[in-house]
Amino acid sequence: MTTATRPNTRRYRPLRTRADIPTDVEWLFRDHLHRRDGHRIWTGATDTSGTPVIGHDYAKFSVLRISWLLHRGTEPAGTVLSACGVRGCVNGACLTDAGDRRRERIMHAALLGIDMTGTCSAGHPHADYGRPRTNGRVECTACDNARRRETRAARKAVA
Ligand SMILES: [Zn+2]
Ligand SMILES: [Zn+2]
Repeated sequence: MTTATRPNTRRYRPLRTRADIPTDVEWLFRDHLHRRDGHRIWTGATDTSGTPVIGHDYAKFSVLRISWLLHRGTEPAGTVLSACGVRGCVNGACLTDAGDRRRERIMHAALLGIDMTGTCSAGHPHADYGRPRTNGRVECTACDNARRRETRAARKAVA
């Protein structure tokens, strides 16, 4: 049996459809799943940040993206993340893409009675960057990230 080893490249091979997944890589994927209740725990390699990866033929493959494509068959929007909270789970049904997370935020906001159609004061659409708060306000993650970067830069300038 071949094992899924840590890849020796930093670049991911782009995968847009099921057909983009080499057969060997699909088998490596299936060989490194541990079934636990409704979840599939990845037992193969991870990169330095803990993201499940498969290194094969001098290329690097995203395990979450492979799992998504095998489960849903369509290209994910943006980053695929595991949303079930089970550590290491890469089960297709447990994954979300940016589109899913966007829809979830809007639904969550609707439950709180918050309108997500507007923008923040800097013009970032709430539908893309807004995070509804229980106090009825919408926090803008784009502005939050920019502020955090500035604080860090200011701290560096002082030091
Ligand atoms: Zn799961
Ligand atoms: Zn903003």
